[in-house]
Amino acid sequence: MENCIFCKIIAGEIPSNKVYEDEDMLVFRDINPQAKVHCLCVPKSHFATLSEMNEKQAELVKKCLAKIPEIAAELGLSNGYRLIINQGKDAGQTVFHLHIHILGGQDLGEKLI
Ligand code: 5GP
Ligand code: ZN
Repeated sequence: MENCIFCKIIAGEIPSNKVYEDEDMLVFRDINPQAKVHCLCVPKSHFATLSEMNEKQAELVKKCLAKIPEIAAELGLSNGYRLIINQGKDAGQTVFHLHIHILGGQDLGEKLI
């Protein structure tokens, strides 16, 4: 997808601090971390939100969710972590390529779930 920053990162056109990659997903550190550990898990198919997701893309998201515990363990998040998927404007989504925030490495508190 043209002009999508995450598609460009997946294509290697924009550098990123990679944590994990396979044929289905790329995980890299967020450029503006909101916690001591803040990574983004990005399926390698362009779609903006869950409401636009097709069956194949749903399979990718399932693979992302299945892989995240392993990635979290490698990131040292043994005390737990939080996953966030922002959907649209009210949620503050800024990059319209679906991504799963992985936040941890500290006590995240009880605010915002
Ligand atoms: P959203 O607000 O859409 O849920 O999250 C987008 C996230 O992408 C933000 O946390 C932002 O810091 C991150 N981000 C935006 N551009 C880049 C980039 O070029 N590289 C990396 N590593 N993260 C980015
Ligand atoms: Zn994209």
